[in-house]
Amino acid sequence: GGSVRFEDVQFSYDPDRQILKGISFEIPAGKTVAVVGPSGAGKSTLSRLLFRFYDVTSGRITIDGQDIRDVTQESLRSAIGMVPQDTVLFNDSIFYNIRYGRPDADADEVREAARQARIAHFVEGLPNGYDTPVGERGLKLSGGEKQRVAIARTILKSPPILILDEATSALDTNTEREIQAELDRVAEGRTTMVIAHRLSTVVNADEIIVLEKGRIAERGSHAELIEKG
Ligand code: ADP
Ligand code: ADP
Repeated sequence: GGSVRFEDVQFSYDPDRQILKGISFEIPAGKTVAVVGPSGAGKSTLSRLLFRFYDVTSGRITIDGQDIRDVTQESLRSAIGMVPQDTVLFNDSIFYNIRYGRPDADADEVREAARQARIAHFVEGLPNGYDTPVGERGLKLSGGEKQRVAIARTILKSPPILILDEATSALDTNTEREIQAELDRVAEGRTTMVIAHRLSTVVNADEIIVLEKGRIAERGSHAELIEKG
């Protein structure tokens, strides 16, 4: 399960300014749709609506045919996982940071998720910026390592629906490539909405939606969009 549909969605944060205008698209269960467009186009707003941080002004969003306004906040939260642009770690060990989305998980499950995200070696460490000096349990994590913590969290939570907010701009090319491969692996078989700035990072998406000023300006496969220029 986990098909997501946006049906003629309009949205405004303030009554005098419409942000999303008649957005309709579907992410079939297990498929990936990428939303590409310039800054300010409304990409993050789409993900906030799917999480119900805000409700649509008109139209509707459904998961497996059910309006998300009829779903409890709790089941919505367990159905949707997010790998954000900037992972904010809280002041506890990486272990607890990974377990955050699934407090019921046992230690072996947490370690397995860490292993799959290739951070098993620092699972007991503490993120930097707090009281622990670097070198004891204190870690100085790079952007890529923080992304891996978010990936481990998502592997553990294993949600049917995934939002990937592509954060690759802050990473160097090699790290970007590695993280991209990890994200592709996590997205495999999940209903995935990828938010991206560039077409070049979403070559494998089943459909790409180009958002401009709150409207769908173009849609199609990567090859189709490249052909149109
Ligand atoms: P993108 O993710 O494509 O950069 P956003 O969805 O973040 O775009 O923003 C779309 C528009 O909505 C922008 O003009 C932005 O300034 C505006 N916006 C975003 N968040 C808010 C908010 N909380 N209140 C009012 N306007 C907002
Ligand atoms: P959980 O269910 O484990 O609380 P979520 O998958 O709902 O986690 O969200 C993961 C993290 O991403 C949370 O800290 C949440 O606040 C944040 N988040 C969710 N949606 C957005 C969004 N659209 N933009 C930025 N951060 C978000």
